[in-house]
Formats: sequence, C-alpha cells, structure tokens
Amino acid sequence: MINKQRLVETFLKLVQIDSPSGDEELVSQELTRRLKVLGGKVEPDSYGNIICHFKGQGESLLLNAHMDTVEPGRGINPSIKKDRIISDGRTILGADPKAGVAIILEALTSLKEDQKSSVPVEVVFTREEESTLGGAMSLDYKKIRSKHGIIFDGDEGVHRIFVSSPWYLSVLIEVTGRASHAAEPEKGLSAIEIGAKIIAQLELGRSDFETTGTVGLVKGGSAVNAVAELMEIKAELRSRDKKKLLKEAKKVEKVVLQLAKQYPEAKIKLKMQEEFQGFKLPPTHPAIQRATAALKAMSLEPQLIDTNGGSDANIFHKHGIEVVVVGTGAANGHTTREYVVIDQMVEAAHFCEKLLQ
Ligand SMILES: [Zn+2]
Repeated sequence: MINKQRLVETFLKLVQIDSPSGDEELVSQELTRRLKVLGGKVEPDSYGNIICHFKGQGESLLLNAHMDTVEPGRGINPSIKKDRIISDGRTILGADPKAGVAIILEALTSLKEDQKSSVPVEVVFTREEESTLGGAMSLDYKKIRSKHGIIFDGDEGVHRIFVSSPWYLSVLIEVTGRASHAAEPEKGLSAIEIGAKIIAQLELGRSDFETTGTVGLVKGGSAVNAVAELMEIKAELRSRDKKKLLKEAKKVEKVVLQLAKQYPEAKIKLKMQEEFQGFKLPPTHPAIQRATAALKAMSLEPQLIDTNGGSDANIFHKHGIEVVVVGTGAANGHTTREYVVIDQMVEAAHFCEKLLQ
C-alpha cells in the first residue's frame, strides 16, 4: 500500500541532501542505496546518471525524475504546514525534483512490500536538468530498453499530462559595417542602423498559438561619437510544429539576404542552430494511453497540456524514448515560496503504482 507517512519521510530526507546542478554526488549515493534495497539492478553511467532495472512482465516502462535542484538550494530546512510542505523561506524547497523522486521510490516500495507483479521498470535519475540538460544528453541510452516513459517533474496534480514541447532555434546575426568619426558619418557605414532594419523587418513576436520569435539581446557600437562598426543580434524561434519553425527560419534568412543586398558593403553573418528538438504526441499515443488509463482507474480526469519550455523530455524524445511529463504536487518551483501539496504527492504515488501494474 502507498504509505503517506513513509512518502513524506522520504521526501523530507531527500530535500535535506543538497544537490544543486553539478553537485548531485551525495543524493545519487542515497538513491543508489535505496534502489538496491528495493531489489533493483543499478547501473550508473559514466556521467553519473542513475539507471536502475527492475524485472517484470510485459512492456517495459521508463520512470524518470532529475536529481538536481536550482539555487538557493543548500541547507534546505523543510517543515509541514497544514496540507503542505514548505521551506523556511531562505531556500527553495526542492520539491522540483525531489517530489518526483520520492513518488517513484514510494510506488516501487509499495509494490515490493505487497509482492505485486509489475511491468519491467527502468528508473532513470538524471543530473543537471536545471542547468544544461547535460545529464539527459550524456545518458548512456544503450543501457535502456523502454520505448515509453513517464517523467515526474510537472507542477500541480498528477492528472496534468504535458504532451508537447517546442522545437527551438537560436539565431545569431552579426553585422559588420565601417567605423568613422561621428563628425564624418558619410565615411562610415552604421552596423546599428542595418541591425535595426533587420530587427524591424523580422517582425517577431507571436505568429500563432504555438509559434513565437523573440529578439532577446542586442549589442553594438563602441562609442557615442562613432559610427558603429559592429552589431550583434541574438534571437530565438520556437514552435510546437516543426514545419512552422522552419518557415520562420526561412523568413529570417530572407530578411538577412535582403538587407545584405541593400548594403553590399556591409558583412552580415547569420547562424541558426537547433537547441532543442520538440515533440507533440497525439492523444492516441501509447504513453498517453497508459497514463490516462491509470488516471481513469483512480477516477481522475486527465488534462493534456502543451508546454513552451524544454526539459529532459526533449532529450529522451530525440533518442527515441517517447515520454510525457506529469504533475507531482509541487508548486512555485524555482522560488523560495516553493511548496508541495502532500495529498497530491500521495495521489501521484498511487498513479505511479497503477502504471506499473
Ligand atoms: Zn524539474
């Protein structure tokens, strides 16, 4: 049986082990110990991610949470206040990700205790999700057989299933003009003027409900009394539809080309790079079907949600493991006002156990 008391104790213990991104060693040791007690075969990879196999019958399922937290995440001092667990206000709570970790451990503990049969499970605890997604990027995928998985890393209730994430391109435009003294502007060619025209013609912002573009950073010029020789524009494009993203990228190319024609003496360099690969699962997808069946068995109404950010999920998809993210009861993540609703965490543990049966 899922045991609320035990789950809360596990959670409290885990958040008191500091694990800001890059500093996951201690929590990794504790998780490895716990997984071994549960009878799992732990195989760390060379990057320090944890991969752990549990035998079972049927189609294998991957369960993931990350191990790292954001800062301020050292010396966390949690306490229970009514229906929630909170920090003392000096640090985050670390429910992102430790609620997810504790939920997975409780479900496995309950199954073992009750000697219930389960599908084969691969537990993957990743490093550095918050900083670079470096753990998921360096994960040893040869050690993983699951085709589908569930990531316990979402906000609020477990009925919230995050089913998509955008493709994301970074855009760098470097304009080189010609410097001159401000008193003789006709001798120069202003990179800032050209850059400004580029930005104006890009017409970024929201193209539709799932496609956006933003110029986030500009840098240029060397002095207020000189025509600027250099300007750098950093922008990003994202869309949950890859075709739309490519269309936006084409528009950027066209604008840059046009300005290059208009200013043949200037040099305009454009560099676009895919930073994340997105995903968009249809409601009929087996990973979603598995999750919704478990929720319905608990009389919970699934809610399918699109996201606009990237996470380990994007990296799993890139490697052919189709995952969705579900809520863990956590809220106000990445702030010192972070908390977790205990009953939502318990519900997520029940859900996790159902998934595996
Ligand atoms: Zn997280």
